[in-house]
Amino acid sequence: MVEVHGLTKSFGDLHVLRGIDLAVARGSVTVLLGPSGSGKTTLLRCLNSLEVPEAGTVRIDDVEVECPRPSRAELRRLRATSGMVFQSHELFPHRTALENVTEGPVYAQRRPRAEVVAEATALLTKVGLGDKVGAYPHELSGGQQQRVGIARALALRPRLLLFDEPTSALDPETGGEVLSVMRDLAAEGWTMVVVTHEVRFARQVADHVVFMDDGVVVEEGRPGQVLGDPSHERTRRFLQRIL
Ligand code: ADP
Repeated sequence: MVEVHGLTKSFGDLHVLRGIDLAVARGSVTVLLGPSGSGKTTLLRCLNSLEVPEAGTVRIDDVEVECPRPSRAELRRLRATSGMVFQSHELFPHRTALENVTEGPVYAQRRPRAEVVAEATALLTKVGLGDKVGAYPHELSGGQQQRVGIARALALRPRLLLFDEPTSALDPETGGEVLSVMRDLAAEGWTMVVVTHEVRFARQVADHVVFMDDGVVVEEGRPGQVLGDPSHERTRRFLQRIL
């Protein structure tokens, strides 16, 4: 479903992605793992055209973006394929949970409000927040806010979901609630690309684990192989540090 070839991206003199190839199968969960600064977030943002690479191609289904000069229309089409869940929820503070979820579909996608409200209410219920539709972000725990963020991403009816360290700002308990929602989504067959240090989640839920370091993919494969029996010293060192 997703194919990335030869992706490169720099910020000034800093070469953050140095020729990334990545393939994601439809309905699979891919976990991107690697030390801080290795380029995981930047890769995720390139999939969503929040960053525009300098070279390479990104294809999601029938939407292909060729760098260095993709058109705005191409970037917009690429953006619309995925829903992104960020490290911190980034909800609108003066809008209720429901309003946060309906905002995108109503204003950006111009879908009928009544239909969007019904769908958003169902999505909030699905992530365990059926009783919190009228709550403001400050009335919700970090984990609940993050689940509103997931409902908001789903409301845009994306074809795939991108998660950027969705639990790293949470304590283990509320983080667990978020991981549990993500597990349910994976079981429903969503295609997901997840940047996370949650090795247990990767072991239990991922179909594919990609270990990145210094802007390249060092190794990738089934979780049992990459996490249990890595073939590269760099992967081994990293896992020793975080386990
Ligand atoms: P990771 O997600 O693996 O921690 P990132 O993709 O966030 O890595 O960052 C890779 C490197 O790129 C880091 O050194 C980071 O400081 C740098 N970087 C990321 N975004 C920007 C930006 N917008 N401007 C300048 N440097 C950036």
